[in-house]
Amino acid sequence: MQKYDIVIIGGGPAGLSAGLSAKKAGIDSILILERDSELGGILNQCIHNGFGLHTFKEELTGPEYASRFIEQIIDKDIEYRLDTMVLDISPNRIVTAMNKTEGMFQIRAGAVILAMGCRERPRGALNIPGYRPAGIFSAGTAQRLVNIEGYLPGKEVVILGSGDIGLIMARRMTLEGAKVKVVAEVMPYSGGLKRNIVQCLDDYQIPLKLSHTVVDIEGKDHIEAVTIAEVDSNRKVIQGTEKRYTCDTLLLSVGLIPENELSKNAGIEISSVTNGPIVNESLETSISGIFACGNVLHVHDLVDFVSEEAGKAGESAALYVLKSKETRDDVNENLSNVIVNRTNLTDSESLGDLRTDTIINVKAEEGVRYTVPSKIRSLHVNKFINLRFRVGNVYKNSFVSVYLDNERVIHNKKRILSPGEMEQVVVTKEMLCQKTDLKNITLKIESE
Ligand SMILES: Cc1cc2nc3c(=O)[nH]c(=O)nc-3n(C[C@H](O)[C@H](O)[C@H](O)COP(=O)(O)OP(=O)(O)OC[C@H]3O[C@@H](n4cnc5c(N)ncnc54)[C@H](O)[C@@H]3O)c2cc1C
Repeated sequence: MQKYDIVIIGGGPAGLSAGLSAKKAGIDSILILERDSELGGILNQCIHNGFGLHTFKEELTGPEYASRFIEQIIDKDIEYRLDTMVLDISPNRIVTAMNKTEGMFQIRAGAVILAMGCRERPRGALNIPGYRPAGIFSAGTAQRLVNIEGYLPGKEVVILGSGDIGLIMARRMTLEGAKVKVVAEVMPYSGGLKRNIVQCLDDYQIPLKLSHTVVDIEGKDHIEAVTIAEVDSNRKVIQGTEKRYTCDTLLLSVGLIPENELSKNAGIEISSVTNGPIVNESLETSISGIFACGNVLHVHDLVDFVSEEAGKAGESAALYVLKSKETRDDVNENLSNVIVNRTNLTDSESLGDLRTDTIINVKAEEGVRYTVPSKIRSLHVNKFINLRFRVGNVYKNSFVSVYLDNERVIHNKKRILSPGEMEQVVVTKEMLCQKTDLKNITLKIESE
């Protein structure tokens, strides 16, 4: 069986950044496995600009942003295999994969980093009546067709859902000569970034209809028209508000689902809110030595945050491997070490975790949908911890509050908070140290 210290699954921005930071932290034996024929992940099809403002203080296109990382991967001799699909990860970190040249093979990994990204929610999840005609695409599929394959899916377009990919594709289809008639969004607010609404819809006079959804699709072989209607606060259609739009294309931008089939099969605990693994401050999942980052962990709107988060996962995985090696050396030297008393210990499993840390739960309450991480081991916080979260509604002139048990330690005023934009708040080690026996950190949105 092949052996690597760290195996990274997915060569998108998360996998690339995780690989680089693991290398920087002192690990040489790293392997990135990517099912596609190129590194870069979904960024390869995002040819518009706007990437890298935080990381490089420049506006790059998706492929340009990815290439900055790919060049470093090559420069630092980090190994990767393309056209290689990971099929299984076992709880003791045996990775099973296959490709055309090696067939099926297995790798024993000291640590695994999950960086598989996400996929788009399909039409089947939406319950729209009508036939199943041609001409209905997910926005990401259309993005790939236009930007990589060189096909224009259609000329008269309706878009359902105002997630970022849908907004970007409204502009892209317009620039390619199609007429985008309307973007319908079932929620009373957009699921995308404000900047994308302005730059992709407003600048091209494309109407955005909030609290509207598609209620009928016409056409048997190919889509011919859709009917859009207004919905009430319970998302029930308001009779009499229906409006018909002729079109040859319906693009769906109705959400992203983290790709966690491998994680679930491995037995990793998954959050029912994010659909990503539940992780601690080191981005380690419920299985020791398996880390997660990027869109597989929770859906990000800015790739810069993906790279930053993945950097942390790479560092944590490196630390885990180094600690495991250290502890293994100790075991060899002194067989009476406490470790031998543990049953079912496989390879370096859990060796870094023998110190009994206090676990602090991070709770999302009153307007906060989730936090990543949702658990913190007090001894593992370095200088600070970045708590990333999304809100469940639009809040204006409200406060993001952080409570350490019952004491409020952060109360930041925000002009606007919206579900389409990921937020973050920094809790310092100093704050944590001031509290003895801290059990819960709670994030809330407060009106005053
Ligand atoms: C269709 C789409 C379009 C997007 N467009 C934009 C945009 O225009 N602007 C923007 O800021 N953000 C966009 N995003 C968000 C973007 O996904 C993130 O910013 C970022 O790319 C996430 O990085 P990642 O590495 O986590 O995931 P990805 O970029 O998705 O990379 C994951 C990688 O893992 C690989 N993989 C998955 N499963 C396996 C497996 N079993 N074996 C081997 N390899 C595997 C995939 O092939 C892929 O290369 C888009 C997302 C999607 C889904």
